[in-house]
Amino acid sequence: MAGKTDRVKDSNRFSIISNINRCYVCGTKDNLHIHEVFGGSNRAKSKEWGLVIALCGTHHNMSNAGIHFNKSLDEHVKKQAEKYWILEYCDKNLSAEEKIKEFIKVFGKNYLEEDEVL
Ligand SMILES: [Zn+2]
Ligand SMILES: [Zn+2]
Repeated sequence: MAGKTDRVKDSNRFSIISNINRCYVCGTKDNLHIHEVFGGSNRAKSKEWGLVIALCGTHHNMSNAGIHFNKSLDEHVKKQAEKYWILEYCDKNLSAEEKIKEFIKVFGKNYLEEDEVL
């Protein structure tokens, strides 16, 4: 884990999910906000592990289509984040069940079915 702290200092704006120069939903480059996929006590961890996405105001928190009000979009993004986290950080030889357990150790909750694990 040595490199992890360094990476946070270098940039808390890296994403393992998508290009943070475009809105994750509509692709616009205007009025972007950085959204931490897991909030509350997991907000800092979301930044630390690159589980952030860029969203325009409309798709963030300035309309009902925004992720803070649109439950299905929020669920979708949380699933994507867990998939990418597993892909990026877990040993490939672990079973889907073991990979999910690794994710739970860090974020405290699972969002995927075992057959959704990449
Ligand atoms: Zn958008
Ligand atoms: Zn947000």
